[in-house]
Amino acid sequence: MTQAMPAVSECSVTSCSYNSDVSCHAGAITIGGDHAHCGTFIDISFKGGLDVRGSVGACHRSECRHNERLECSAGAITVGAGQDVADCLTYSPR
Ligand code: SF4
Repeated sequence: MTQAMPAVSECSVTSCSYNSDVSCHAGAITIGGDHAHCGTFIDISFKGGLDVRGSVGACHRSECRHNERLECSAGAITVGAGQDVADCLTYSPR
């Protein structure tokens, strides 16, 4: 059974090349690393992404209450500065 990927409802990391108007435009992001870091964040000299709202493709934070089988089950997430420049701010440990 397929289900819609959770939207990135807001991303305040305007330095990211996928960010436009405080909104993520990556096809799908991955959350992971040693905390709930956005692994898709990239700060380079040109803008990328699609004319769509970004969504969560995969998440490695299995200890998050929204995580099911390494996928995010939240209705939507927000991304912004946390422990790092671009973290999932919806992260909530079980
Ligand atoms: S809310 Fe939890 S499960 Fe969803 S992307 Fe963020 S850290 Fe991963």
